[in-house]
Amino acid sequence: MRLEELGEFGLIKQIAALIGEPSSAVRVGIGDDAAVLKLAGDGHLLVTTDVFVEDVHFRRQWLTPAQIGARAAGAALSDIAAMGGEPIAIFVSAGWPPSLEAETATELMAGLARVAGEYGTALAGGDTAASPGGIFIDVVVIGTAGQPWLRSTVQPGDVLLISGSLGEAAAALALLQDGKVANAAALSPALQERFTNPIPRLSVAKALAEGGAVTAAIDISDGLVQDAGHLAESSRVAITIEADRVPISPRCRPAAQQLGADPLQWALTSGEEYELLLTVAPALVQQAAELVADKGGITLTPIGRVSEGEGVVVVDESGEPLELSTEGWNHFSPSPPTHCL
Ligand code: ADP
Ligand code: MG
Repeated sequence: MRLEELGEFGLIKQIAALIGEPSSAVRVGIGDDAAVLKLAGDGHLLVTTDVFVEDVHFRRQWLTPAQIGARAAGAALSDIAAMGGEPIAIFVSAGWPPSLEAETATELMAGLARVAGEYGTALAGGDTAASPGGIFIDVVVIGTAGQPWLRSTVQPGDVLLISGSLGEAAAALALLQDGKVANAAALSPALQERFTNPIPRLSVAKALAEGGAVTAAIDISDGLVQDAGHLAESSRVAITIEADRVPISPRCRPAAQQLGADPLQWALTSGEEYELLLTVAPALVQQAAELVADKGGITLTPIGRVSEGEGVVVVDESGEPLELSTEGWNHFSPSPPTHCL
């Protein structure tokens, strides 16, 4: 079977099946935003790795080297936020075409290091190789968490919450893909900032980690509906998303109008938003939202509910299921939907 038939998640399932019982040090292995390793005492170590491949995750015509590095760091750090953790160190293994200007490599790494520093962590090592094709960068982030948030612990009855708002990254990408703008520098300042400097929601994680209100979490890197699907599958529950409650950024609307696109479809399927999708018991929703607003200045919006069952359904205001134009991101898919290519 070809990978394009098996799909990204089919391959990951086959890899997971190759692995026997994990060692007792591995509390969570394949299947969450980061692996959770048990430390002596109460703490947990988090490890996440994300690979960024030229012309799959980024295009050099669209982004400066520093922007490519900053995006990679932000996206990788987002997985630590999704675990309710704090980053402690970053390692980067990279492949570079030998003909590449050395400055391109150092500028990319400087962009990555800048973002690492902004979130209180630093580059602590990596590996360097020649690449026969384009640039690739693998970013490993090590973090810690007292009680890591998992994908597998959603409870029926929980409320589904999303941080911030969705659609700006999708709008930026759609404008670039459509040729409406030649590169990220030509985007409006708001879209440019969101696209070139994705914010890992570590402040949300920090504000909520101590309270214990969060029952489960994931970050939006494949699209809201698909990422909700990962929560539902891991936790064996059903999730209903109420479309009219999904916070769509007003800043993506002019681009949607210009392109004749539906901002709701962007919000439901865009894979580069890096907001956190959390579940919380109903009684704790208000307290969680207030904590995040007070400590991080970010909104947490209830967008759905969890029940017994399986799968994700998106409903309109009258409760009718909505059709989606695409599901979300899947590597190897013959016609990839919204992503950076
Ligand atoms: P995320 O979008 O949060 O980075 P992914 O969808 O990339 O998560 O990965 C889902 C899970 O599958 C993670 O636990 C990841 O570690 C695991 N995974 C992905 N690719 C591989 C691989 N080649 N080998 C082992 N585990 C993998
Ligand atoms: Mg993730």
